[in-house]
Amino acid sequence: MNAEFLEEAGRLAQAAVERGEGGPFGAVIVSGGQVVSRGWNQVLLACDPTAHAEIVAIRDASRRLGRFHLADCELYSSCEPCPMCLAAAYWAEFPPSITPAPGRMPRQRDSRMPRCIRS
Ligand SMILES: [Zn+2]
Repeated sequence: MNAEFLEEAGRLAQAAVERGEGGPFGAVIVSGGQVVSRGWNQVLLACDPTAHAEIVAIRDASRRLGRFHLADCELYSSCEPCPMCLAAAYWAEFPPSITPAPGRMPRQRDSRMPRCIRS
């Protein structure tokens, strides 16, 4: 675990909330000590209920690396991944060490159902 990458996941989450792109979630994928991809919640921006930070980061990492198995990578998330993201991490073959950033998850201020940005 690298605290720097956890912090980055938290910063991505906070920035996405401030831009109004989605919920307060960020993710970073690292390989060989280098960031391969970054993701943040884009559910509202993309009007896509699957555009969670981890999914966005996994898709980007797979595109960049040209493969869908990421067993040699690490996934850092700003919070504990949801079941969908855990399943995606399983299928991408991440090692079982996904570590949410403790206390880094910003809280949503409004519990009303958000609307898609492009609606
Ligand atoms: Zn998720």
